[in-house]
Amino acid sequence: MPQTTKDTPMMQQYLSIKKDYPDAFLFYRIGDFYEMFYDDAVKGAQILELTLTARNKNASDPIPMCGVPHHAADSYIEILVEKGYKVAICEQLEDPKDAKGMVKRGIIKLVTPGTNLDAKPDQSKENNYLAAVYLKQEQYYLAYTDFSTGEVKVTTLANLAQVQDELLNLRAKEVVVPADTSEQIITKLQQLGIMISKQELTQDHAEVAFVNQNLADTQQKKVVTYLISYLVETQKRSLTHLQLAQSYELNKYLQMDHNAQSNLELFRSLRTGDKSGTLTWLLDETKTAMGGRLLKQWLQRPLMDATELKARQATVQLLLDNFFQRGSLQDYLTKVYDLERLAGRIAFGSVNGRDLIQLMTSLQQVPNIKAILRDIQAPILDNLVATMPDCSTLESLIGKAIVTDPPISVTEGNIICDGYNELLDKYRSAMQNGKAWIAQLQAKEQEVTGIKNLKIGFNRVFGYYIEVTNANKSQVPTDRYERKQTLTNAERYITPELKEKEQLILEAEEKSVTLEYELFKEVRDKIKQHLADLQVLAQILARLDVLQGFAVVSETYHYVCPEFTKQNNIQIDAGRHPVVEKVLGKQDYIANDIKMDPKTAVLLITGPNMSGKSTYMRQMALTVIMAQVGCFVPAQKAVLPIFDHIFTRIGAADDLIAGNSTFMVEMMEANDALQHATNKSLIIFDEIGRGTATYDGMALAQAIIEYLNKHIQAKTMFSTHYHELTQLADELTTVKNVHVDATQENGQLVFLHKVLPGPADKSYGIHVAKLAGLPDTLLQRAQAILTDLEAKDTNLQSKTAVTISEPVDDQLSLFNTVSDMQQQLLDDLKTVNLMKMTPLAALNYL
Ligand code: ADP
Repeated sequence: MPQTTKDTPMMQQYLSIKKDYPDAFLFYRIGDFYEMFYDDAVKGAQILELTLTARNKNASDPIPMCGVPHHAADSYIEILVEKGYKVAICEQLEDPKDAKGMVKRGIIKLVTPGTNLDAKPDQSKENNYLAAVYLKQEQYYLAYTDFSTGEVKVTTLANLAQVQDELLNLRAKEVVVPADTSEQIITKLQQLGIMISKQELTQDHAEVAFVNQNLADTQQKKVVTYLISYLVETQKRSLTHLQLAQSYELNKYLQMDHNAQSNLELFRSLRTGDKSGTLTWLLDETKTAMGGRLLKQWLQRPLMDATELKARQATVQLLLDNFFQRGSLQDYLTKVYDLERLAGRIAFGSVNGRDLIQLMTSLQQVPNIKAILRDIQAPILDNLVATMPDCSTLESLIGKAIVTDPPISVTEGNIICDGYNELLDKYRSAMQNGKAWIAQLQAKEQEVTGIKNLKIGFNRVFGYYIEVTNANKSQVPTDRYERKQTLTNAERYITPELKEKEQLILEAEEKSVTLEYELFKEVRDKIKQHLADLQVLAQILARLDVLQGFAVVSETYHYVCPEFTKQNNIQIDAGRHPVVEKVLGKQDYIANDIKMDPKTAVLLITGPNMSGKSTYMRQMALTVIMAQVGCFVPAQKAVLPIFDHIFTRIGAADDLIAGNSTFMVEMMEANDALQHATNKSLIIFDEIGRGTATYDGMALAQAIIEYLNKHIQAKTMFSTHYHELTQLADELTTVKNVHVDATQENGQLVFLHKVLPGPADKSYGIHVAKLAGLPDTLLQRAQAILTDLEAKDTNLQSKTAVTISEPVDDQLSLFNTVSDMQQQLLDDLKTVNLMKMTPLAALNYL
């Protein structure tokens, strides 16, 4: 049987490697190229816009093939990974020159969305998370890591919805699940648009034992095991930067589900999807990538721990008060590179000389930073200084070993300082002496031959040579010179003496380059012993960076330090929506108070569209979040309880996951709040009920308020255009009305954005229409219709809001306790035809 293309030793090797990586693009190294074959080639060529060719084109069974040059491979890998694919990198494991038969090849790493380390510069302030999920006896265990920094976190969750939410909040790129995970769970996770990777529970890896050592919960250990085993097995390299897993509990932090985080625009604007216009955009005055990432982590999980919050506030206050020190601190922080990711690269062995110089520059800032903090003379900062590990030996090691401007490559020399290693110095002086000798030889030969422009040059192919232009060729001493190369206008020669020296120089050069690489690795490994210190230092600097950023923002926008109360009351004097204020400018932003005494549970907000209801409510939520990350808040004074959860129902957020209708989403979000809120929660309901027919919506809105009032008592801000609901404040002592008004100036509709006590004017719709200039006759007609409708409505109101609404046991409804006499009066009132009475007659009747 004739041998087919598939049977060639190389293709057999390819197929045997590919078999273990069926779901990845296999980049198979051949010489200077990475080649793809079969389906990988067909799909890869299409995605990467490469030319599809074939191996053995003329054979009966050509194999589709396409390739990328190895030096440009990173950008192609990046494209594939960005699009959610995996790429397995298969390298030649021996020099083809030394190979007996087929060159040995193997996978050196698997690049996946969750393990991709080549973050683009604009993503340096983003974490890239790989997660793992494991279900055991109705409990879900979730672990995640940012592979570039080595942090590992783990938690236990009650249901899959919480898992989905955490994954979305973390923006995890990839989830590792046990190989036997049910299809149902996998589908649910896939619906989030996250790559799923299956992992067997295999033999014990040392890394797993290390990361797990502080965990108490067996199942949490197990999920971490899946996570770390996957890393070890796909990355196939040293992972000494991995940190001890930290267990956390959601309910120790201020919780916000993914909808709340996106509705409140903490990280991404709802309109554009960018950072601009978000809370991060406002608060991110950090100078380091680590600080940028930590700020996001804080915003994702604001605190509930008053002691830690007070510590953060105290530091912000100190940095606010010490303007000059803060300025210098910022200058030094600006020079601190991404220590966390540098530590990761040191662990992988992928740092180069430039990275080490960045590390040294960063470490050089530390003594200055410490001095500034001490200068402020505050115990809290002194403590911070005391916890900063001393990494000065690393700094001096790098200073002594690595030249200040090293090349990118670590294998081509010019990276180690003179004086660092004796042998290297010897090689170098041999090289220098040789080169000086050659320079002298040039002068000598010019003189002996009388050829003035004779010169000695060097190239990689011929080594050192003597070059003589054609015009002087006749003067060449042919007995001594051997011709080596002919150019159009010159001849090149060598002499035995020259070659002998060349040998010495090249040998010294080769030895010195090899030695430099060895020395570089030695330095790198010495630094590797201190990774844990570097990571602690990085964390402290990141914290300091976020807090100095808070001080900057607080100063720039005149924020105040919020006071936390246990009294369950809210008092915000002259509060502002921090982002809208930043956009509009302080002078154009109308500050508003938010006041809810301990007994007030619902603030019912009425007012025309565009008056500022939604802004007012968002202002409250953002103020709470800022307060609970330790930042100052946009107000003249702020007293706040510590909240445990923020629930939102704002605007028409699309439900991307399940494709539900807007109204369904509205009800689901409302339900989430009603089911899970406590009296320590904050609920923001923006026009609940508007997604359905008027009475339907109004009835639901009212029932929701009553339920909140009776069962939950969470602090709720509830905006509505159902004016009828404002009556609830008369019935329920925990409901309070406020409104935002609009007025007219020079015939123009003007929104004052001022929040005032009490309900909005009943006919504000017609009022606004008038301001907008609609014809008078039309407005009169509208007024007449309104009056008529209201007359009819009185009956309906009494049915929905009074008789039917509350069960008999409701203590709080005034109307259930009306006396017979009151009932008689009410009945009488209803029979009066107000339309046919003059105002005076009506007054007399009353
Ligand atoms: P509503 O929810 O009542 O329809 P919004 O809260 O969306 O109104 O506010 C509409 C616009 O009014 C916002 O885009 C904002 O620019 C402006 N605005 C709201 N509140 C204020 C305020 N307190 N000061 C200045 N401008 C405001």
